[in-house]
Amino acid sequence: YARKEEHNKSLLLKNKEVTIAKDKALKAAKAKENFLSTMSHELRTPMNAIIGITNILLDENKCDNQKIHLNNLKFSSKGLLHVINEVLDFSKIEAAKLQIIKKEFNLQENLDCLINSLRYGSANNNLKVIQDQQLAGLKHLVFGDNKRVNQILTNLLGNAIKFTSEGCIVLRTKIEENTDNRVQIVFEVEDPGIGIPSDKLESIFESFSQVNNEINRIHQGTGLGLALCKKIVLSLEGEIFLTSEENKGSTFFIEIDKKYFK
Ligand code: ADP
Repeated sequence: YARKEEHNKSLLLKNKEVTIAKDKALKAAKAKENFLSTMSHELRTPMNAIIGITNILLDENKCDNQKIHLNNLKFSSKGLLHVINEVLDFSKIEAAKLQIIKKEFNLQENLDCLINSLRYGSANNNLKVIQDQQLAGLKHLVFGDNKRVNQILTNLLGNAIKFTSEGCIVLRTKIEENTDNRVQIVFEVEDPGIGIPSDKLESIFESFSQVNNEINRIHQGTGLGLALCKKIVLSLEGEIFLTSEENKGSTFFIEIDKKYFK
């Protein structure tokens, strides 16, 4: 009995220690989260000011030599703002604070604009970006969060452009009924690019995960884009997955219940 009593005491002590350690770890995680979101939030305002002032200088400046520098400045600032926004969104999702704001919008027009902006944004003439919409039966105006849909697709199409040197990138949008009779909107982003090795297909959705350091150094990027896409898709109760073959290309699939767009 005495030995049992002793054992119980030591178990209670251990339990207390584990609880204290857990509380400390949770506090540290929360502090990291707060730091990331506060910092990225604070950095956004001056970054927007830098981009705005660069735009004014570009408008006012007639000197070609300076225009080159100003355009470089604008390009880098926008890149930095993109990273800051990704970190901010990521920390918001971690803290379950990312808001889904639904409003009425025209999905087909929205997709046209997205493709056009990427087409003009891509400097590679050997690369074509096209789309194939099969949305017959879908109402002209749908109800959903177009910002989040655009964020996911911009990320996937941006990656497709980054990791493909030539050929045709396709954004396919269609309505499909799945096995349990649920109707869903499926977005597919297909590229004939460098592809992803089979042992990395799962892990690329983890934060800060990149496949090839050498290639990523050229293209830059945070390794947060796909993790962010996955979290947003999950918050829309959808699914994201991919098929890919090295040196042949990749296709990313997103399935979101049609009820979400009502
Ligand atoms: P980032 O592009 O900022 O590095 P992502 O999370 O968007 O981060 O992508 C993670 C990694 O997955 C990329 O660094 C790249 O190695 C790989 N990847 C993503 N999309 C593609 C693609 N379409 N083709 C080849 N590799 C890709």
